[in-house]
Amino acid sequence: MTPTIGADRLWQSIMDLAAIGPTAEGGSCRMALTPEDTEARALFLRWCEPLGLHLERDAIGNMFLRREGTDPNAAAVAFGSHLDTVPTGGRFDGIFGVMAGLEVIRALDAAGIRTRAPLELVNWTNEEGSRFRPAMMGSRVHAGELTLETALATTDDNGVSVAQALRDSGQAGGLTPSPRGWACWLEAHIEQGPVMEATNTDIGIVTGTMHARYFQLTITGEPSHVGPTTMDRRRDSLAATAEIILEVERIALASEPGGRASASWIENFPNARGNVPNVTRLHCDVRHDHAATAIAMEASLRAALDEIATRRRVKIDVDPYATFGPIAFDQTLGNVLRRQAESRQLTTRDMTAAAGHDSVLIAPLCPSAMLFVPSVGGITHNPAEYSTKAQVAAGAQVLLDAVLQLAG
Ligand SMILES: [Zn+2]
Repeated sequence: MTPTIGADRLWQSIMDLAAIGPTAEGGSCRMALTPEDTEARALFLRWCEPLGLHLERDAIGNMFLRREGTDPNAAAVAFGSHLDTVPTGGRFDGIFGVMAGLEVIRALDAAGIRTRAPLELVNWTNEEGSRFRPAMMGSRVHAGELTLETALATTDDNGVSVAQALRDSGQAGGLTPSPRGWACWLEAHIEQGPVMEATNTDIGIVTGTMHARYFQLTITGEPSHVGPTTMDRRRDSLAATAEIILEVERIALASEPGGRASASWIENFPNARGNVPNVTRLHCDVRHDHAATAIAMEASLRAALDEIATRRRVKIDVDPYATFGPIAFDQTLGNVLRRQAESRQLTTRDMTAAAGHDSVLIAPLCPSAMLFVPSVGGITHNPAEYSTKAQVAAGAQVLLDAVLQLAG
């Protein structure tokens, strides 16, 4: 008898977590290492306690909850996602993957099953990167793609460092972040796009991710008075940035289908009503299914920046501080997910992830795979983000069936 996911229990856990850091529109705001994120982590740990899971925490705040297997020499089967959200977060992005993992262990406990291999349920720190850049920070440090020192020194918009936020929230652990010798890694996630709903797909088998390139731009002009300074004498950093923002959008439109580009964060100085702005910082990214095209998109952007800088007599510094992908996930593991879904009479579809995920960082360390469940209307990073109880239960069931097959 294979154990069954408790659909109501899983749904209730997702809703209980969403109540932490609630937004007016029914979503959640739990940016990494804020009091809200900390409260969500504490609730998660309270749920793990009766399951007898052993908690280990590393120095970047990643949480590993271990369930021992019957074979002490077996490598662990690991799974999970992230509990942090963007400021306009929904209830499912990341949360579903951690709660599905929790439900897998709850269902195994209820069925009295102990697997041969140990299991590790993971909550990664700062996946979203809205407060501290770059995104996927916890898994990046775990994988050795970002040094712990650099991550700890990163500050948010208020000058609070990751180190300080970890201390204030009590989330820093004693472990040095490093790969844990897992047999494999699985992540369940919402699709965050419209394809599965449009094609009546129950379970998306994520075969790989897009290639994304992140930049922080600093546009420097000259401070002057908005009154006496004639238009021809101005070196206006904000007006130059306005052109850049539209250029970013134009580059994305020109690289459809498959291309995306966004300007998503801005800081303007002195941001004073009587001043022509002289320093503006802009965050943007370009991404595409094909790495070569993403690189070409970056080249277009850089050419446009040169032209704008010359014409407007501003200086533009480009800090290309992070990339992710393209990653091809493990095919054998993807086939395990596909077969388990099919044996539950669920429809499947191979998909490419357009968003970054912690799995991108884990894929080079051990065989890794992701499954998607549909997002109603394709809406995400939005309070209206939604998947039905049946959809999340189906995803968790496939995760459970796969874990059982892999952990024996
Ligand atoms: Zn996510």
